[in-house]
Amino acid sequence: MAKTSLLRNKTLIVGCGRLGSSIANKESLAGKNVLVVDKNPSAFELLSDRFSGYTFSGDVTDLALLEEASIGSTKEIIIATGDDNVNIFIAHVASQIYSVPNIYVRLDDPSLEILLRGLVNVHPIFPFELSIDKFKLLRGGNR
Ligand code: AMP
Repeated sequence: MAKTSLLRNKTLIVGCGRLGSSIANKESLAGKNVLVVDKNPSAFELLSDRFSGYTFSGDVTDLALLEEASIGSTKEIIIATGDDNVNIFIAHVASQIYSVPNIYVRLDDPSLEILLRGLVNVHPIFPFELSIDKFKLLRGGNR
């Protein structure tokens, strides 16, 4: 097993769907040490041939697996499973137990943001709202 805790400049990505894998590919190309966790090993097929990071198969609610993937020493975590409840749980774990300095969380349902309130270093991302904003922009303002 690779000693990933010794790596510097780490990005931990939780959920290797379209969003997670795209960020993983970009960060890896940019020279970061990228660690990706997904419960479905076939999800790693979305990683490009030029991805040079590490993959971990299993459920992200297994804290032993997250520790194996160096949650305790990562500079940032991108939480992007397709399950908002899982994402909120991992955001709490990353902030309150491991004090990860930068925590980015995908939430498909913006009304759940309230469940992140009070957490330190947590930045929610709402793909739905980003799509609406882009749509408005393309139509030229607030029509
Ligand atoms: P998508 O919804 O297409 O962005 O993909 C989300 C990814 O998150 C999929 O590859 C799922 O296998 C993964 N995923 C969902 N729930 C979990 C979980 N509890 N643990 C690990 N990976 C998960």
